[in-house]
Amino acid sequence: MIDKKQNQSQIYDGINSYGSFAKINPLLRLPLDWRFTAAPAGVRIFFTMRRGGVSPAPYDSLNLGFHVGDDPELVIRNRVALSEAHGIDPALVTSPRQRHTAVVELLEHKEQAGAGAFSEESVFDPCDGLATALRRVPILLQFADCLPVVLAAAGARPAIAVLHGGRQGLMAGVVRNGVSMLAERLGASPECITAALGPAIGPCCYEVGPEIAAAFGERFGEEAVAGDDRVDLAAAAIVDLKAAGVRPANIHLLDICTACDRDFYSYRRDGVTGRHGALAWIE
Ligand SMILES: [Zn+2]
Repeated sequence: MIDKKQNQSQIYDGINSYGSFAKINPLLRLPLDWRFTAAPAGVRIFFTMRRGGVSPAPYDSLNLGFHVGDDPELVIRNRVALSEAHGIDPALVTSPRQRHTAVVELLEHKEQAGAGAFSEESVFDPCDGLATALRRVPILLQFADCLPVVLAAAGARPAIAVLHGGRQGLMAGVVRNGVSMLAERLGASPECITAALGPAIGPCCYEVGPEIAAAFGERFGEEAVAGDDRVDLAAAAIVDLKAAGVRPANIHLLDICTACDRDFYSYRRDGVTGRHGALAWIE
């Protein structure tokens, strides 16, 4: 296990960690997930775990992904259970078709809500970041090692963006594009944006080989590389958040490695597997 705080003190300097997150069991029922407790008023942000669903192995059990080979009926049951536990309408839970791009879209009209709720198909395709200022329209993106980055802008008219921070998307600028979307289309100033970075494969486990690691280091700085063949997705996201004007004090990292912690899905560890989620909405 790499000690990130020691090796990468500069990038992680001033960033908040575990204290901003709480493991909860909504309504004392399953499913269990992590709540981001430092979200701005009126914004709810959660990171789901594997437990509490109905999918069998290798998708056990709260698989939220339709595209991984699981029975779609079971995925729908999982999504409905998650929605009911949080008191949100499962038919409005909107998911894009993620394809490791840097495309961030704006969910602007109520008619777009619920795209991708009950199937893999979505009007947001390709799309690796979805933003909205609409109330009670939850956004759900899916992960198995990639880094969830949830942005929330405080204010009279809150706005959110949920981003898929994989290696390719980060390199292509998905974080930058997410901040720009909130700033330019929804009027949020970057210093008022809070960022919650969810569970992702850590620099302890994310081996990519020396060539990719070198390219990553060139793009984000040497501190986003561990050893000579591993990369640190969270460090990369933090570099771009800071460059886009997000204050370090407003960046929060749930420092859990999905490949180390079996409460989460890991593509690297398991190959065929399910997807946990990053779920956010404006109340
Ligand atoms: Zn690890």
